[in-house]
Formats: sequence, C-alpha cells, structure tokens
Amino acid sequence: MNRLMRKIAVCSLVLLLPLPSSADWLHEESAIMGTAVNVELWHDDPVAGKVLIRSVMDEMHRIDELMSTYKSDSSLSRVNTGAAKGPVEVGEELFGLIGYALEYSDITRGAFDITYASAGQYYDYRTGKKPDSKQLAEALPAINYHHVKLDAARSTVQFLQAGVRIDLGGIAKGYAVDRGIAILQAAGVENALVSAGGDTRVIGRHWDHPWMIGIRDPRNHDGIVTRIPLEDTAISTSGDYERYFEKNGIRYHHILDPATGESPHGIHSSSIIGNRAIDTDALSTSVFVMGVEEGLALINSLPDTEAIIIDNQGSMHYSNGLARIVP
Ligand code: ADP
Ligand code: MG
Repeated sequence: MNRLMRKIAVCSLVLLLPLPSSADWLHEESAIMGTAVNVELWHDDPVAGKVLIRSVMDEMHRIDELMSTYKSDSSLSRVNTGAAKGPVEVGEELFGLIGYALEYSDITRGAFDITYASAGQYYDYRTGKKPDSKQLAEALPAINYHHVKLDAARSTVQFLQAGVRIDLGGIAKGYAVDRGIAILQAAGVENALVSAGGDTRVIGRHWDHPWMIGIRDPRNHDGIVTRIPLEDTAISTSGDYERYFEKNGIRYHHILDPATGESPHGIHSSSIIGNRAIDTDALSTSVFVMGVEEGLALINSLPDTEAIIIDNQGSMHYSNGLARIVP
C-alpha cells in the first residue's frame, strides 16, 4: 500500500470509529395517555440512553392502547361494551390491574372505585358537559365495585348489572411509571426520573442531590408550595385544578365521589409519597375523595406511606411521618 493509500485507509478508519461518548443527563418529554410523560436519566452512553428512553415511551404507548377508554378498540373499551352481557376475556396484565384496583376499593371503603365511570362517562371537562339530575340518578346504582366479577381461572371480567362502566384513570399512569422504572433498572440505570402527569418515581439521585419534586400551588398555575427531596421513591398528586370547568360558581373536576357521582370539594390537592407509583397514584385519588381526616387516618395506617394535603382553605396537613420533620 503506498503512503497516500495508507493515509486514506487510516482516515476512513477514524471516520468509522464511533465518536467518544460522554456520560450525561438525558431528558425527553412526550404526550401520551392524555398527559405529559417525562423521562430523565444519567447514562454513560448517550446513544444507549436515548434508546432506553424510547423503550420507556413505547411501553407507555402500549399501556395506553390496552387501557384507554378513548380508544374504542382497546381491551378496556371491549370490557365496557361487552361485560354486562357476559364474561369478557382480558389478558393477564389488564386482569391483574383491575384486580389490584378492586383491592384499593376495599382498603378505602369504596372511595377508590373504578366503576365511578358509570357516572364519569357523562362528564366532559373540555366542553363543560355534566350529567343532568336524571342521568346522575340512573347512573348512581351502577357505581359499586362489587358489580365487577373477576374469574381468575379464565381471566374474564363480567359486570353483574347493566350500565356499569370502568375506567383505570386513577391508577394506570402510576402503573405505567413503575413499568418505565423497571425497564430502566433492568438495563442497569441507577439515576432516573419517570413521570406521567402527576405521577412520578425516581431512582438514585440527581447530580449529587436527591431529586427535588415540587408540589404545585392548587390556585396559582406557576406557583410551587413546597419542594420535597426524594430518592428511590414515588410521589403522586391529585388535584382539582388539572381537568375541570366551572358552572354557577361550582367547580366540576375529574375526581368523583363514588357515593354521589360528583366532585368532592374538601381538598384542593393530595400528594402521596410511597415506594411504588401504582400505590401512590391510587392513594392520591382515594385521599382526595376521603377528605383530610379519614384520608390521613388511612395513610397513617399504611407502612412506608406519607401524605401532604392542601385543604380548601389552603392549609397544609401532613401524615405522622412528615409531621415529625416539618417545622
Ligand atoms: P391524574 O389523572 O391527573 O393523575 P388522579 O391520579 O387523581 O389524577 O386520577 C384522576 C382520575 O382518576 C380521573 O381522571 C378518573 O379517570 C379517575 N377517577 C376519578 N374518580 C375516581 C374514583 N373515585 N375512584 C377511582 N378512580 C377515579
Ligand atoms: Mg391518582
């Protein structure tokens, strides 16, 4: 090989070699499940890190396809149209999640109830639509999680009464966040944040600090009431300010009391801190419905679970574990 050829060969080899990679924080945001999904992580190899973020986003899309009530061909929509006529087979994953949601109905004595959707289906928060009193009276008897019959041997769901609808909006995002974190952990990621709307879970730290998660001021869109340092923890916030409309001075928002089919007004936001987002998600919705006193009693009875509640006067209430450290 002459000298020139050798030089060209060396140059092309250099061009073919990958650029030296540098460890960095990577961040992406995507609109999935009707909300903003955020993934932030530290990775030694930015290309591999981006591939992982894509896998988390793909997983969120997959869960949305399964559980969306806006998509008429989702498994959950098939349950809603068919389960009053007879058992509908659902895959193991959806079956498991519905079963888990029903357990929360027991734990919260019915405050968390996926059959809230029997009335919830008549609300549209974008267009300001709500059920009239006749519709609401007819829908109320269908709200009762005991109407949902599960058959584990066949993975089927059946509704024991006409008019029942279910919606996993109070738990599916938390589940999806946990799945996202599991994907990252399996790939060896040690420092990351995954969030879907008000449901967040972090692993490790952010730089050399804990992750700082803000709790929003329920009546000031840009305001933060407090920031909480978190490592290897999930936090979910349910508020009356995300999806709502107002009519005659009444705020109709997306959390419904299963007992009335209407929005409760004792709390502006409830934030729950715990190990897994599936639990903090279900519990933040539950505590919102239960109110300050009953909600705090529930949280204080659960291990590794804390709450920060902002009531309708703007006052903050803390569960026992936090009250000890908040001045
Ligand atoms: P976000 O969806 O903003 O994260 P939440 O976690 O508080 O907020 O969940 C609110 C959603 O939970 C509603 O949009 C609805 O899909 C569902 N939901 C509303 N009321 C109840 C209830 N009583 N029990 C179970 N799910 C509910
Ligand atoms: Mg929730």
